[in-house]
Amino acid sequence: MLFRLFPHLVHHKCDNDHGYTFRRECRSTEIPHLFEHLIIELQAQAQPTEVLRGETQWNWRVDPRGRFYVFVDYENELLALGAIRLAERVIRALDRRDLEEVDTEKELERLREVARLGRELPGVPPPPVRDEPSVEEERTAWSSVPLFSDHG
Ligand SMILES: [Zn+2]
Repeated sequence: MLFRLFPHLVHHKCDNDHGYTFRRECRSTEIPHLFEHLIIELQAQAQPTEVLRGETQWNWRVDPRGRFYVFVDYENELLALGAIRLAERVIRALDRRDLEEVDTEKELERLREVARLGRELPGVPPPPVRDEPSVEEERTAWSSVPLFSDHG
């Protein structure tokens, strides 16, 4: 169903534990991993972009079972937020096996408009520099315990 909605997903590179193509991996993968690829795909469909990368991580030895961390690149903050919201709706529709619920063409059109607005926003400030450990450092800290991750 996912690939019917977004055929371009077959071209996604996916670094998974099995060395599967993304399409094959999708037959049995975590929903947050689909979410990750979808957010990237939606951004790419809405505006021309450099290669965007994403990563889905979890470590239930440290975190409550069921918590995932999804990281995605973005160039346009407003578009990224729009893509997250739309990806959420698409995943929910897939879960209910109700593809009619999302009019992909219309939603992508709306997302392109959001992307245009995002590009026109005067000086969206970059994310704040934090004193606390950055995500990058946290990831490093985690690597001392078995970690399941995907570098989609
Ligand atoms: Zn992946």
